[in-house]
Amino acid sequence: MIHKAFNNEHPTAPIFAISRLRMGTDGMGITTLVTFMGCPLDCKYCLNKKCHEPIYEEDGVTVRKGIMMLTPQELYDMVKIDNLYFQTTGGGICFGGGEPTLYPQFIEDFKKICGDRWKITIETCGRCPYDTYERLSKVADYWIVDIKSLNPLIYEKYTGCRSGVLQHLCCLSKMIDDKSKVTIKVPHIPDFNDINELYKDIDEIKEYYEFPNVIIAKYNIK
Ligand code: SF4
Repeated sequence: MIHKAFNNEHPTAPIFAISRLRMGTDGMGITTLVTFMGCPLDCKYCLNKKCHEPIYEEDGVTVRKGIMMLTPQELYDMVKIDNLYFQTTGGGICFGGGEPTLYPQFIEDFKKICGDRWKITIETCGRCPYDTYERLSKVADYWIVDIKSLNPLIYEKYTGCRSGVLQHLCCLSKMIDDKSKVTIKVPHIPDFNDINELYKDIDEIKEYYEFPNVIIAKYNIK
């Protein structure tokens, strides 16, 4: 597959999976999970290692096998098969990855096409600039944010990146009026944190950032 030339009217995004008919894992109702390539973190137990692979072959033009370079309209045409399920269950599209906040323009354009009939969920590690939160908060109906850890030492050891979690939680908290639309995941990461750390993080997130939905996620690393 040859990558179509990028142009501002029809931006494309590299997508490595489209998973249909999901329930109870990626937002409300029946959802289709769309996973983007690329992520700023380097988690030790990355669940989607493919997102870190190169997008192009060595010629820098040909898109590698298993990756689809799609415009929002092309994606819409592929996922609209479940329109009825989305509308009758209050579901829609969950953008994950990899890291969906790397593609705000694509998600905004997709929202213009699907309108309010479908719900948009952003499943993110939360590491993105303030203006991206500002843009996506206007099109996202729900957020699922896996914060890894509030403890900067654990975060940095696990992700290989400097922690900005507190700033990111602040941004999200400012942008979203209805905090019940946000689910914060606090993962139990084998060899990195323990249950006491988790409860400490949960208390802090509820008390200082006022997000009521905080859940413990268990990473299955086998
Ligand atoms: S945030 Fe998710 S996709 Fe990114 S490195 Fe961590 S587990 Fe992998």
